[in-house]
Amino acid sequence: MKIVVCIKQVPDTMDVRIDPVTNTLMRDGVPSILNPFDEFAIEEGLQIREKCGGSVTALTMGPPQADDILRTALAMGVDNVVLLSDRAFAGSDTLATSYALSKGIETIGDVDIVITGKQAIDGDTAQVGPGIASRLGFTQLTYVSKVEDINPDTRKITVERLLDGGRERVEAKLPALLAVVKDINVPRQPSILKMKKARNAEIPVWRADDIHADPALIGQNGSPTWVERIFSPEQKSGGEIFQGETDELAGRLSVLLLEMKLQ
Ligand SMILES: Cc1cc2nc3c(=O)[nH]c(=O)nc-3n(C[C@H](O)[C@H](O)[C@H](O)COP(=O)(O)OP(=O)(O)OC[C@H]3O[C@@H](n4cnc5c(N)ncnc54)[C@H](O)[C@@H]3O)c2cc1C
Repeated sequence: MKIVVCIKQVPDTMDVRIDPVTNTLMRDGVPSILNPFDEFAIEEGLQIREKCGGSVTALTMGPPQADDILRTALAMGVDNVVLLSDRAFAGSDTLATSYALSKGIETIGDVDIVITGKQAIDGDTAQVGPGIASRLGFTQLTYVSKVEDINPDTRKITVERLLDGGRERVEAKLPALLAVVKDINVPRQPSILKMKKARNAEIPVWRADDIHADPALIGQNGSPTWVERIFSPEQKSGGEIFQGETDELAGRLSVLLLEMKLQ
């Protein structure tokens, strides 16, 4: 199995500052971490490799300092890493990001499984995984909470998906993209020795030309999303909590609804 895990560097803070002109995140001076959901994606890639053989490549698009999360992935045990980094990628929205990542995956070539986290904790859209799948024409499996079986001969994968009201078992064709939730596994902790080795590893950097990206589809050129304003929503008051017997509570609630003219 040739597996690619897409991972993203995110700010390690809830206190994000927004550039008032471009409405994008100001990342300078903010400590960064591996997107927490992506640790589960790396772990799942490693577990599939352990069961089925093959290789795992960690792929990220970001500024030069995003090489840090690729070192974490190397320390966890991935075989290869690739950093997509070029000024031409700057200002990419989710459409342009998923296009660039899909071109990176095509350049890696002959990929059977792509794994992403459920969502990034900064952008939070959960659009990039499905965007990559539709660009590549891969089967799209979201909210994956368990990989039950992979049959390399029939090219079928069986997964469990975590839904609001329960779990769903799905059999699908490879190649596939899996967006995984945190219930799927417990990510391994890399040893100090592996972390030291990863610190000195050379990180391959691919520019837009290396992945044959169409300049019209990356960066700001390829980003039709227009952010008008970013703001924190106003805090609402806590409301009122009723306590008591069911009949009494129902009565008080209907009075309240009548008063609010909602009934
Ligand atoms: C108009 C606009 C302008 C923007 N400009 C900038 C900008 O200038 N600079 C900037 O850094 N961001 C910018 N962004 C944010 C950027 O588009 C998103 O960070 C990015 O598209 C990922 O979306 P998300 O964070 O919602 O990821 P989600 O879709 O929530 O992520 C899901 C999963 O996809 C994978 N993934 C997501 N992003 C990456 C990545 N980069 N590399 C590898 N895997 C990934 C991860 O596995 C992740 O768990 C901009 C967004 C908009 C809308």
